[in-house]
Amino acid sequence: MATNHKTRMLIIGSGPAGLSAAIYGARAGMEPIVVQGLQPGGQLTITTDVENYPGFREVIQGPWLMQEMQAQAEHVGTRMMWDTITDVDLSGPTFVATGDGGDTYEGDTLVICTGAQAKWLGVPGEQELSGKGVSACATCDGFFYRGKKVVVIGGGNTAVEEALYLTNHSDNVTLIHRRDSLRSEKILQDRLEANPKVSVLWNKKVDQFLAGDNGELRALALTDTVSGDAIEFEADGAFVAIGHAPATELFKGKLAMDDTGYLLVTPGTPKTDVAGVFAAGDVCDHTYRQAITAAGMGCQAALDAERYLAEKEFANMTETVQG
Ligand code: FAD
Ligand code: NAP
Repeated sequence: MATNHKTRMLIIGSGPAGLSAAIYGARAGMEPIVVQGLQPGGQLTITTDVENYPGFREVIQGPWLMQEMQAQAEHVGTRMMWDTITDVDLSGPTFVATGDGGDTYEGDTLVICTGAQAKWLGVPGEQELSGKGVSACATCDGFFYRGKKVVVIGGGNTAVEEALYLTNHSDNVTLIHRRDSLRSEKILQDRLEANPKVSVLWNKKVDQFLAGDNGELRALALTDTVSGDAIEFEADGAFVAIGHAPATELFKGKLAMDDTGYLLVTPGTPKTDVAGVFAAGDVCDHTYRQAITAAGMGCQAALDAERYLAEKEFANMTETVQG
């Protein structure tokens, strides 16, 4: 039977933003509920080394960091829910989210931390060969390509990290990028250049993923964006690493968002255009998109949610006394 769960602070999403909001919300006595979604712990659970999250001298592992964050949130009183939200009602005065099993979650305030999802190229063969040579996560699937020839598509931090990670499994890694320069951080570019197991194919656009007789990936059909030449490039595994799209489908028509779907907040704050509804992390940030910035925004959202409720409750109390 469907259950209605009530809280002073409902958080959708369990990445660094959601769990940081939960830690602050719980310590402020808001008894937060976090609905975890399909990726408990968020994007960092699909990476390995994290060396830019403050507080750790040694390199730490993404999944470990998120387990620790969740344990900390639970330790201070957060309730974690294994559910995915399929609908939201933001008409107020409370905010109601419905889970895919029919449970409802009702919050006096709502903090949206649904993050972002991997983008696909949308070319022929990509979805058909997904799991048969084509993947969007080298750290999840790289192991299956031990000793094989692999490619990574993209030119940002994710693509370069994925290419470097794959050298743990393969001596033959090729990064395919549509331009002649990378947008990833300098330190990662230096590591890529220094790694003899990786080569880069510049100015190449992927037109199609081609299957072999065994129904698995055999090659990629590419076009040189400068000369226009068509090339067939053989590979056993292809990892698409071209960025992420914000998970905001649920909020279309209910909250203000920009042309690319990122939630709009009042600059420098986590406030959306609906009072009592806050957003934090990658779902509203297409500039920084880091674990630490997401965590910082989660903290801001919890503090503002607590202030919003305190002001609302004080106003109600004043009205009662005057009336
Ligand atoms: P996310 O981590 O994206 O979490 C979103 C959460 O929302 C998930 O728990 C998901 O299940 C949930 N959700 C979504 N939709 C729903 C729904 N309908 N109902 C319920 N829940 C829902 N950053 C760094 O600082 N250092 C790094 O080394 C680093 N490495 C990275 C490596 C990779 C491969 C990638 C992809 C990213 C990396 N980043 C790194 C970026 C970092 O992971 C993100 O900036 C950060 O995770 C964003 O946190 P978030 O909480 O906003 O969202
Ligand atoms: P990103 O920075 O947006 O880079 C996406 C890359 O894919 C770009 O090089 C882009 O090419 C290319 N691309 C996009 N669409 C394409 C298409 N249709 N066909 C071919 N190529 C395409 O995304 P990201 O690398 O996933 O990084 C996302 C965020 O997470 C960033 O803020 C990043 O700093 C962060 N992150 C941080 C770390 C770290 O700190 N260690 C690790 C991973 C990610 P163009 O360059 O031509 O636009």
